[in-house]
Amino acid sequence: MKLVENKVALVTGASRGIGRSIALRLAQEGANVAFTYLSSVEKGEALAQELEQYGIKAKGYRSDASDFQAADQLVTDVIADFGKLDILINNAGVTRDGLLMRMSEENWDTVININLKSVFNLTKAATKSMMRAKSGSIINITSVVGIRGNAGQANYAASKAGIIGFTKSVALELGSRNIRSNAVAPGFIETEMTDAIDGKAMEEWKQSIPMKRGGQPEEVADACVFLASDLSRYITGQVLQVDGGMLT
Ligand code: NAP
Repeated sequence: MKLVENKVALVTGASRGIGRSIALRLAQEGANVAFTYLSSVEKGEALAQELEQYGIKAKGYRSDASDFQAADQLVTDVIADFGKLDILINNAGVTRDGLLMRMSEENWDTVININLKSVFNLTKAATKSMMRAKSGSIINITSVVGIRGNAGQANYAASKAGIIGFTKSVALELGSRNIRSNAVAPGFIETEMTDAIDGKAMEEWKQSIPMKRGGQPEEVADACVFLASDLSRYITGQVLQVDGGMLT
């Protein structure tokens, strides 16, 4: 028996990086996968076919997670196409780094809207049907930066810390309905997001990690599969760090 056989999962921001790996791992474990993308249209469109090779149903939706109405419509469409929604993975995220003194209002708003407001948008829409089903698993991708802060990332850290507070609050509100809400906090994961960091700084960063290497998207995806599956059926309100011991 696969870990999430016949479940329906929605993953936001799956055209690249961690979201793509999460979608693939869920498909390998038997879930039918709905996913979103925004600007990477070709990659998003290609992913559905790749996922279907695992013998499951998959569909991509071009949808902006920061748009409240679009998120509500997305969940309506997913339930119409797949019949239900069991697992929500709020993964879509961006960075707009800069020291506070130079951070523009636009870069603050963009990061808060895409990283944090999106989690509210999708969770609010998805929990309507999860409450009727008296079952659901919500997994929000935060970051170790949301726990400890990071110079040059005040907007990003605030958005990721906000996700942790949101995750715990939803766990408290919806635990009695058998809806679980957990967060995964990756450390330094090798994706296009971290490609932007210059080589020397990246090497120094890796050396500061107890496991002496960056993480791979698949290693975050494995933690998400665990939290999505019944293996974690009595776990809610938690933040699972996937960081090679970076923040210990
Ligand atoms: P990435 O490679 O830059 O991919 C980001 C994904 O988010 C893309 O698929 C992108 O889709 C999507 N996205 C961006 N804005 C969106 C929007 N408004 N609506 C829908 N989708 C949107 O980033 P990543 O490294 O995989 O990061 C994934 C998540 O993990 C993020 O929440 C990030 O903060 C978190 N995280 C990453 C690391 C790391 O070291 N990489 C560490 C901690 C936490 P399009 O390209 O189609 O627009």
